[in-house]
Amino acid sequence: MELPFAESWKIKMIEPIRRSTRQEREQWLKEAHYNVFQLKAEQVYIDLLTDSGTGAMSDRQWAEMMLGDESYAGATSFYKLEKRIRDLFGMPYVIPTHQGRAAENVLFSYLVKEGDVIPGNAHFDTTKGHIESRHAHAIDVTTDEAKDTQLEVPFKGNVSLEKLEKVLTENKGRVPFMVLTITNNTVGGQPVSMENIRETCALCHRHGVPVVMDSARFAENAYFIKTREAGYADRTIKEITAEMYSHVDAMTMSAKKDGIVNMGGFIGMKNREWYEGAKLYCIPFEGYVTYGGMNGRDMNALAQGLDENTEFDMLHTRIHQVAYLASKLDEYGIPYQRPAGGHAIFVDADKVLDRIPKEEFPAQTLTCELYLEAGIRACEIGYMLADRDPETRENRFGGLDLVRLCIPRRVYTDNHMNVIAAAMKNVYDRRAEITRGVAIEWEAPLMRHFTVQLKRLG
Ligand SMILES: *Cc1c(COP(=O)(O)O)cnc(C)c1O
Repeated sequence: MELPFAESWKIKMIEPIRRSTRQEREQWLKEAHYNVFQLKAEQVYIDLLTDSGTGAMSDRQWAEMMLGDESYAGATSFYKLEKRIRDLFGMPYVIPTHQGRAAENVLFSYLVKEGDVIPGNAHFDTTKGHIESRHAHAIDVTTDEAKDTQLEVPFKGNVSLEKLEKVLTENKGRVPFMVLTITNNTVGGQPVSMENIRETCALCHRHGVPVVMDSARFAENAYFIKTREAGYADRTIKEITAEMYSHVDAMTMSAKKDGIVNMGGFIGMKNREWYEGAKLYCIPFEGYVTYGGMNGRDMNALAQGLDENTEFDMLHTRIHQVAYLASKLDEYGIPYQRPAGGHAIFVDADKVLDRIPKEEFPAQTLTCELYLEAGIRACEIGYMLADRDPETRENRFGGLDLVRLCIPRRVYTDNHMNVIAAAMKNVYDRRAEITRGVAIEWEAPLMRHFTVQLKRLG
């Protein structure tokens, strides 16, 4: 008999969690105005809000915490992290920052000018924010395949070379760089192939445009290249990582994802001029250049996290778990963005709660139902998040209406996945009875999803 797959780690420390009653959850959700961001974490049984900063550190990472050097300048912890980044990514110039958006803020302060155009494969929301707040334009050049949730293609995060070429040609002299995001978070944690990375970078470089890799889930992307792309099965994750980064000019990193630390980030650069330029913004925004936004101990833990999370077994354990949850949803016939991504499953709420009109926010309603059913906190990535058109102030109903089940790294077991799938099935089974959604009672003018107050209709 072939031995079944099991996690490549065992558990040394546990954190108790508690199941609540439906009656308690009804009360808590009402107090939270039907917005799960407003819940207290202790009111949640299984928390799938995000995989950002929610992972479990290893014993080796905790041991590294004790060795942290908190010297203001030139700490050994900085040099340890710098060496790891040089070895893994081939980036000689490193600036630590307190998280990914801070890396964007520092680098973009130097690179982005009013009127610039920055193409990318579905810019992450903070990335877009840092471009638009500088009165520049973020233009999406993701392949159209990403829009069809039921289409099974291996690299749905890819750049459309045609769209990119058009942007580069029409905006000559106005494109300071391109942002290549791996994995493509916005379309469902979908990977970008090595072939697409190579061709995208070659195209940009022909136009004299450098490429910045938005790297939060680079290791998951490398895993998908190894397991899905011809010619990479025998290469290690570290070799694939080195090849991915051989094509680009710089990187911004949210270490809260594939670095498996609770807080942290960095910029890596090949170009000394960029480093000198970015340094000028690091010091006022983040701190002196050898710590940026990080403690010594956190830089140590990150150096260790980057090393262990670029080992195949660690990534296989994680992606296997996400795929396991997807297989349970398949069993129950629940539609989601296919194929399953690296860090999350995106349930297609429009197809689940098909009796609820768009104006009553199906994905937001499904998020509430899942919480009421089992105390599971998911995240709406749909019409609420899409916000209003800044000019017409109309709700933007043009995109997908999804519920993201985001899996923290090394935190939950497959038994928790069973609970999540069963809860989703129970809601799915009574979908015909769920005919009314939610209405907005109060909303902020910007980024409304964090604080919006809602009421249940019907
Ligand atoms: C999380 C993330 C960021 C921003 O990083 P923070 O650490 O949350 O500031 C940027 N890009 C991508 C692709 C991300 O997933």
